[in-house]
Amino acid sequence: MLSNPHTEHLQELLEDLNEPQREAVTHGDGPLLILAGAGSGKTRVLAHRIAYLIYTDQAQAGEILAITFTNKAAQEMRDRVEKLLGHRTSGMWLLTFHAACARILRSHAERLGYTRQFTIYDQSDGRRLIKHCLAELDIDPKRFTPAAIHNQISDAKNRLRQVEAYREAVGSYFEQVVGEVYGLYQRELQRMNAMDFDDLLLGVVNLLEMFPEVRERYASSFRHVLVDEYQDTNRTQYRMLQLLVDPRSSPDSETKRDRISDLQASGHRNLAVVGDDSQSIYSFRGAEVRNILDFQSDFPDARVIKLEQNYRSTQTILSAANSVITNNRAGMAKQLWSDLGDGDLIKLREFDDEHAEARFVVGEIEQLIDEGASRDEIAIFYRTNAMSRALEDTLVRREVAYQVIGGAKFYERAEIKDAIAYLSLLANPQDVVSFNRIANSPRRGLGQTSLSRVISHASSIEVSVWDAADQPERVPGLGTAAIKALRRFMDTMGELRELCEGGVSVGDLLEAVLAQTGYVEALEAERTFEAQSRVENLQELVEAARNFDAKSEDGEDTLDVFLGQVALVADTDGRRDDDGLVTLMTLHNAKGLEYPVVFIVGCEEMVLPHSRALDEGGLEEERRLFYVGVTRAMRHLYLSLARMRAVFGSRTYGLRSRFVDEIPRELIDAPERVEIRAGALRVGAHFSGGEASSAVSGSDLWNATRITAAGVTDFQLGEDVVHTSLGDGVITALEPGGIIVVRFSKDGRERKLVAELAPVSRR
Ligand code: ATP
Ligand code: MG
Repeated sequence: MLSNPHTEHLQELLEDLNEPQREAVTHGDGPLLILAGAGSGKTRVLAHRIAYLIYTDQAQAGEILAITFTNKAAQEMRDRVEKLLGHRTSGMWLLTFHAACARILRSHAERLGYTRQFTIYDQSDGRRLIKHCLAELDIDPKRFTPAAIHNQISDAKNRLRQVEAYREAVGSYFEQVVGEVYGLYQRELQRMNAMDFDDLLLGVVNLLEMFPEVRERYASSFRHVLVDEYQDTNRTQYRMLQLLVDPRSSPDSETKRDRISDLQASGHRNLAVVGDDSQSIYSFRGAEVRNILDFQSDFPDARVIKLEQNYRSTQTILSAANSVITNNRAGMAKQLWSDLGDGDLIKLREFDDEHAEARFVVGEIEQLIDEGASRDEIAIFYRTNAMSRALEDTLVRREVAYQVIGGAKFYERAEIKDAIAYLSLLANPQDVVSFNRIANSPRRGLGQTSLSRVISHASSIEVSVWDAADQPERVPGLGTAAIKALRRFMDTMGELRELCEGGVSVGDLLEAVLAQTGYVEALEAERTFEAQSRVENLQELVEAARNFDAKSEDGEDTLDVFLGQVALVADTDGRRDDDGLVTLMTLHNAKGLEYPVVFIVGCEEMVLPHSRALDEGGLEEERRLFYVGVTRAMRHLYLSLARMRAVFGSRTYGLRSRFVDEIPRELIDAPERVEIRAGALRVGAHFSGGEASSAVSGSDLWNATRITAAGVTDFQLGEDVVHTSLGDGVITALEPGGIIVVRFSKDGRERKLVAELAPVSRR
């Protein structure tokens, strides 16, 4: 018998893997690419490989860096590895890119001109700062919206283009404006000792590029780097990985190729990545499928392993997923198979509106539970967050316990953000955004003009906003009332700061903040139901802080660590598994997860695929999103749609999604009245606006839609057209009476045109 406990564990570890999986787990040094479809065990292979590296002494816990896409996935990875190892994973870096970067930056912030206490700005903080920059630069926010500029900047950061590089390459006037805002935005962030999410990644890349000794340190301490969901990494993340495993590599793969022999002598190159190009759904955040497709040219000696057996889903579900995805032009051919049997057919149901759809979904869930399913085996996916409301209403009415991942996120609620802003300002006296957020919340009679005066005074005499506010009488232009109010506010903040410096726990500090600033008192005075629920949310936050305190280690800079964690809590973190809740989430959040029963609602044209994504690249990404949804299901898959749906307050009429029609008829169970069309959708119509609903009732309209729309115009949804004076556009909707809605690329606006009369033709 085997006596060495390690050998025994090792054998166990390798037993429940198939041949190619085992090959991946036991692969020695050097780059490794596992390219495989959904549910084939990629994540499982990573977990096993980590355990294998530890058992075979190829790595110590602290020498492993494993990157996942969401905090939830990181937690799951930690659980899996702990189970395999039989002990805690302490010391191991099993984190998201952002969390890993935040951790690295906390140790080296000074090198980038920040202090360790830097604040992490989320999307809305960043947006607010952009607005401020636009005002500063006298740019009309109606002409150049803060959102568009913010997206453009974020996109540049994800593509590793910093201010200088961006400015050098500007083409259009819009880009020129963005370049200007980008520069100011970065200066302001730096001045406020703050970074946005994208900066965390970019900051680490800069750190590793500029300071060889830091790079060497991390490159040698992380002997093995593993990345899950590699298809969704962006250029900046890719660069960071390169720097860690291959310190001498150049960002430009062309020059790199010429230096391959050189490179092999440099870093350890122990990079194992797993991914599926068919599941790439984040190109809007700058992810580049190219990273996975190019892996082999970047690492020509990479071992490539393909996994083809799916262990998650029935053959029916897999065949449906396979047929849908083959409609995408791009992509690597993969055929998944499963030996879990055919299982049930996919249930397809159509309803008059989203309420009927929700009643069906919840009714079906109740029945499944009666038959012995547990709530946590069931998930409902939808395309956009707002679609959860109809479902939630019904779930609440029927008293089915559920949770929503994403949507109204706990940490994005106003009162929670206020409380966090108080703590941020206590930790970082330069944090202008937080100061601006809370100085008059609750109301203290401090108007925006007074606050702006304090802020600009601080920047003109180069002191922190805290110091400027602390001497209000020196701020030019402040009235006596404002001076008094500010004085009172800063006295309170000063007391809290002392408490903070005295080493009080985060929970106690937060309680003191909420009490002494009058925040809770002001809410209670409102005496409304809403205010009460805000107070409850704040209590929940205190609870979260206390939990954090209980876990934190002595001597840590606890407040900073707490704030860092809070800033990084992503959507999927609200998920709890043990208390039996039906889970609702967007398709984007569903990545990497699996459930025995899956409902995908809203399988309609313009919803899924989304109306904003009907150009060709967008359409393929929508198809991959649908593919991700379908492949989450283990045993039962339901697809449903509503012929009429309220979208932003108006009713829209939808046709069945083309993706549903790409599933072979024989895999679908649909009642008689649902007519299944062969092949892809050819004639589509999308009626929007109120006119149609007064003319025909819901179900008549459903029939009418197909017939009349086809007769009136032969334009098709999503078709590229050209207008003699307005230029290129795309058809985003077809309306009764031969009206087509065209979005023109010139200005991104939609216009309704009479198809027969307008000078529009196909491109
Ligand atoms: P996705 O692409 O959706 O992220 P994946 O490739 O990461 O999927 P996993 O989540 O690792 O797949 O595995 C899917 C399911 O199959 C899991 O429940 C996993 O435990 C199971 N599984 C994978 N390989 C095996 C195996 N060799 N034996 C038994 N079960 C397996
Ligand atoms: Mg996975």
